[in-house]
Amino acid sequence: MQILMKSNQSALKELELATGEIVSDCYQCGKCTAGCPASMDPSPSVLIHYLKLGLFEKAVNSESIWSCMGCLTCSERCPKNVSPAAIVEGLKRLHLNRMKPRVILHALGQEFLANSTQQAVVSGFRKFV
Ligand code: SF4
Ligand code: SF4
Repeated sequence: MQILMKSNQSALKELELATGEIVSDCYQCGKCTAGCPASMDPSPSVLIHYLKLGLFEKAVNSESIWSCMGCLTCSERCPKNVSPAAIVEGLKRLHLNRMKPRVILHALGQEFLANSTQQAVVSGFRKFV
């Protein structure tokens, strides 16, 4: 789904602020992608390449960000101390943050919260609230 975004430059700044990562530190060695078990297409290094080229829209709207399992293999392998896992998670969050409607916490009701497993509620809120 295409979403409305700020300029590529300010969106990239927002991503870097949210994740603490510096996209320009990546020198495109591909070690992250070589270890990624999720067969992402575009791969983590290509997503970062898009960001470096100013193609933020292309990165944040890539289907492959939803295939990332958050295993952190990519981040462990990076010789430049970049965390592709954090960048992909940041792209997911920015994507979700701009989608409407978002979940309204107080509208969920006590019954829903009482009948939901704690882990599902917490992990859902991390992404949607
Ligand atoms: S391993 Fe690090 S430096 Fe290499 S492509 Fe991936 S993010 Fe960039
Ligand atoms: S955290 Fe995501 S991008 Fe990184 S290796 Fe695991 S599945 Fe691939």
